[in-house]
Order: sequence, then structure tokens, then C-alpha cells
Amino acid sequence: MDCILNQTHFLNARLADGTVADLTVAGGRFRAIAPAGNAAGSSAIDLAGQLVLPAFVEGHIHLDTSFYGDAWRPHIPCTNGFDVRERVAFQMRNLAQAAPMAERAKSQLELCVGHGSLAMRSHVMVDAAVGLKHVETILGVREKYRDLIDIQLVAFPQSGILSSPGTAELLDEALKLGCDLIGGLDPASFDRDVKGHLEIVFGLAEKRGAGVDIHLHDGGTLGLFEIEEIAARTTASGMQGKVAVSHAYALGDISADALARAGERIAAAGLAIMTNAPGDHAFPPVAALRKAGVTVFAGSDNIRDSWWPYGDGDMLNRANMIGYRSGFYEDWELEAAYDVVSQAGAKALGLEGYGIAAGAKADFVALKAEHVPEAVVAVPKERTVYRAGREVARGGKVVA
Ligand SMILES: [Zn+2]
Repeated sequence: MDCILNQTHFLNARLADGTVADLTVAGGRFRAIAPAGNAAGSSAIDLAGQLVLPAFVEGHIHLDTSFYGDAWRPHIPCTNGFDVRERVAFQMRNLAQAAPMAERAKSQLELCVGHGSLAMRSHVMVDAAVGLKHVETILGVREKYRDLIDIQLVAFPQSGILSSPGTAELLDEALKLGCDLIGGLDPASFDRDVKGHLEIVFGLAEKRGAGVDIHLHDGGTLGLFEIEEIAARTTASGMQGKVAVSHAYALGDISADALARAGERIAAAGLAIMTNAPGDHAFPPVAALRKAGVTVFAGSDNIRDSWWPYGDGDMLNRANMIGYRSGFYEDWELEAAYDVVSQAGAKALGLEGYGIAAGAKADFVALKAEHVPEAVVAVPKERTVYRAGREVARGGKVVA
């Protein structure tokens, strides 16, 4: 009886398939989805034909290093072409003058929730200079926001592992403190030891039962070699479905034949590939990888930080960028771009109860669009975001 009393009905919700339905929510989950006009009860919210989508998945962000909500930091170019070490040095200089990390992380979190992301994976810097300070702060932020958004944290070796003595021990400690995954960074170009780097990453993952998500910027055949090594280790460790490679630029550099072979290996190893469809850069071909059965997901990555000034925390806008840069025009292609920021993201993050279905969590976004392809192209800014069936954001602002 109690369950019936606490039901909320969302009337006239347009579903992705174009039908209009009434959604019944109780205990934070969808209990029934029925053709419009069938729900009864006093507690009803009329969605008036708005499109209802599961809340977006922000699959790659850096909560500790953004200056969103803080003073504007003009971008400093590298002196002789892109150089990760030089950018890390710029970042250290910028962070020394920044507002407190918890405040900046909070601004960035609310930006994302305001646009409709209710699940997120954030990389958090761990190295000999900052130790576990970033991890401890972001763990505190996660705890404060746990009712609003689900956050996975990656212990991220921003200064390498082998080239930054003491980092392996710090990464282990970060996992013990509560990070869910262990990260990595360009095993070849940064640490210059692919085997040594991956042995530590996968060793700690197995020891702590953690997932893996590695930043890989290395391009061409070098990057491809590293992806193959990561795939082999994933299979050897029985970690299929728990490992991701972020950026994987190399997949955008290689021939169609090489990509087809790589796609097969990546899919067989259950490796997920994260892309943010970066501006002036080759990136993993989304359509070809999806066709090969690879889970391709997306994230904002850097938002107004020491790496670049872009980013708005809007995963629907990210789907638009992915579609635009991929040359997606047909409806099924636009739907694929949307899938990258929703279902595929949920799969990559291993989220339970994702979607608009009876039994799924009632975490959703209502917006004005006829269907998914129109939402991806128009990116309507007016949205209402619901967490466990409760309104938490409207017009881009968190209200709860
Ligand atoms: Zn990143």
C-alpha cells in the first residue's frame, strides 16, 4: 500500500520511439510505462509531450583541474608543439593561484547536472608533488553530492608512473581510499616503458578489484601497439568490460584495414574507447568502431582548464560535436551519436538500471524535441532534470 501512496506519475512523455506514454515512478525507479491516458492518481506532472531521455553519462572529466566558476585563465601555448610535460607544468602554475578545489569541482559538477548528466567518471590527479590531496578533496565532494549524481573516480598518474617515483604506491593508496579505477598515461611516450607501466596499472587493478581507464594520446602505430598491449592484458586478467582507453587518437590515424583489425581485437577484449571528438585532432572513427562491436563513449574531458579553454559540460552538445565531426547526417547516425553519450556510456561505466524502462532508475531529462535526431541537432537548452523522479535542475541550474 505504501508503495502505491508514494507514486508519482509523469504524463504525456514522448519516448525515443515517438510514442507518448505515462511514466509511473516509485522508490526512485520507473514502475510502469503505459500508453498516455492510462495513469491515474493525484500526484501527476504533465510533461506535455516533451521528449524524455535517460540522464546523460559524462564519461571523462577532470573535477580537480577546471577553473570553471573561477577567474578566466588565458591559454598558454606550448613552446614547441604539444607537449604533455610542459602542459602539466603550466597546470601546476595555474592551480597554485586557483580558487579552492572543492569550490571549483562543485561549480563544474553543477554545470554538468544542470545540463542533464547524472553519472560521471572523473580522473583525479595523483603524483609525487600533489600526493593524495586532490583525491581526498574530490572524495569529499563526491560524498556531498551523492544524492545528486553518481561519480566514479579514477586515480590518474598525471606525471607518469615510472618517471615519477613513489606514484605506484600513491595510486594503490588512492584505490584504498575509495577511487574506483586506476588510470594510466601514455605508457610509451611518457614513461618510455609500455610493459612496466601496464604491469603496475593492471597489477594494482587486480589487487584492488578496480577498473582501468588509461589516457592514451600516442598516435599512429605506436599508439596502436599500446592499444593491442592493453587489449591483451585485459583478456589475460579476465577484465573484459572493465577497461577503457581514453582518447586513443591512434585509431584515427591508421588505415581502414588496420582499423578493422584493431576494432575486432578491441571488441573481443571488451575494451571501451572514450572520445570527446577533440577539435583539431584525429580521433577514433565512431561509426567503424561501433560497427565492429566496440563500446564507444564520450566525455567533456577538460573544461576551462590548463589544457584548453573549451567545454560546457553538456553531453547533448557533445553528441552534436561527435555527429558533426563524424559526418553523421542520417537519423540512425544521429541516434548513434546520442547513444555514445547515453546507453554506450552506461555500458562503459557499468551503470546498473540505466534507461527509460520499468525497473530502471528514474534519472531522466525532459526537453522540447520531436525525437532523438532533432535533440542532437538542435541541442535544446531548456531542460528539466529528474533524479530518482525528483526535479533537481531546470534551465541549466541545479534547484535541489
Ligand atoms: Zn582527460
